[in-house]
Amino acid sequence: MNKKEKLGNFTAEDAPEYEDMLQCMRCGFCLPTCPTFALTGRERSSPRGRVALARAVAENKLEFTQAVKEEAYFCLDCRACTTACPSGVRAGEVMEICRSQSHQQSPLGHIGRSFREFILQRMLPNPDLLEKSMLPARLYQRLGIQWLVRHSKALKLGPAWIDKAEGMMPKLDAPLRPQLPEVTPALGEKRGKVGFFLGCIMTLMYPEVSRQTVRVLAHQGFDVITPKETKCCGAPHLNEGDRQTARELALFNLDLFLKADVDYIVTDCAGCGASLKEYEELLAEEEDHQRLELFRSKVRDVQELLCDVGLRTEGLKPVKTSVTYHEPCHLCHAQGVSNQPRELLKAIPGVEFREMNEASWCCGSAATWGLKFSDESQQVLDRKLSNVAATDAEHLVTANPGCHLQLAWGLKQAGMKQDVLHLMELLGRATPEV
Ligand code: SF4
Ligand code: SF4
Repeated sequence: MNKKEKLGNFTAEDAPEYEDMLQCMRCGFCLPTCPTFALTGRERSSPRGRVALARAVAENKLEFTQAVKEEAYFCLDCRACTTACPSGVRAGEVMEICRSQSHQQSPLGHIGRSFREFILQRMLPNPDLLEKSMLPARLYQRLGIQWLVRHSKALKLGPAWIDKAEGMMPKLDAPLRPQLPEVTPALGEKRGKVGFFLGCIMTLMYPEVSRQTVRVLAHQGFDVITPKETKCCGAPHLNEGDRQTARELALFNLDLFLKADVDYIVTDCAGCGASLKEYEELLAEEEDHQRLELFRSKVRDVQELLCDVGLRTEGLKPVKTSVTYHEPCHLCHAQGVSNQPRELLKAIPGVEFREMNEASWCCGSAATWGLKFSDESQQVLDRKLSNVAATDAEHLVTANPGCHLQLAWGLKQAGMKQDVLHLMELLGRATPEV
């Protein structure tokens, strides 16, 4: 448990760091990078304004009001402001912690709390239960019920988020976890041993991406160990303000992957990668520092790893196509991995890479933000889609399942020609079968 001294009007448990707020010098460099400030023009919905709100709570000048709670949830946690900030202020993380505070200060009613606990504390930490929960959705698609529902337009009668969530669902295949071998041996000259972190959303929504990630890694000379017991990385819990369950999951995964004794811990999901890289901070009070440092030193996004060790291009098949690239916020802003995916795209034979404007501007997904704020999300998405359209590329490449869902849905709604591919799917097309 993260017990600290009480900070102003925050509760003692899981308050933001006061020093983080003091670093803001109110210069405003972050303002043009913030999607919610661009949408509203409102100071309180800007990084600077949010930090000022949190600081006022910390200094007993403001109660933890409804406005603070609203801003905590209206922040996309896209971290674009952190990239822009000369003082390294992390407004997104401060707001993430304020979400946890809002649950401590004004808990949900019985039904809301039970539902939240079921999803965050029962379902997400249990890969078996999570996989079984997808069976009704697969039957819904296979038995033609989806076709009937969509053609009857029944979902238009309910809340907008249900219609959007249903429309975003990709064609669901059987879960990947039971199908993947525990060990996939390296091909050719061996370059190391990686532990592959199976992300829940990626393997449930886009199992083909992770299948290709394992295949590409093996082809690139890595033994791939896939621990089947891997649990959710904790990102949804941090996003929804349940830091305690996030810590329990982090402790489990840290132990599991350190025992596996691998050279690298690799993920193909930007959100999982950001979360794994932040275990060091999340578990600072609970875990041994050397173990935290060791774990952190091994975590890589798959694109970061392949670019850093050098992509082996001999034997790759040409993929004659043009692509543009959308940078997931949790890859470029949270992990600082920005150039590596572009380098890989340019190295795939036959691929013509076309840079888009504002590639690192959020797509408007941000976990459940795109459902909670569907109108604002649509505006953020429209800006992204017009930048995609201007490239006239055949495919839109990205590297995070949340972005993938939002962009694929947006492109379809807009009747645009592009499809969305994860970079590993594209590299998988270039990688010969053996
Ligand atoms: S958060 Fe950073 S960039 Fe924004 S006003 Fe404060 S110091 Fe300047
Ligand atoms: S994390 Fe994103 S939405 Fe939140 S304050 Fe920073 S730029 Fe704005």
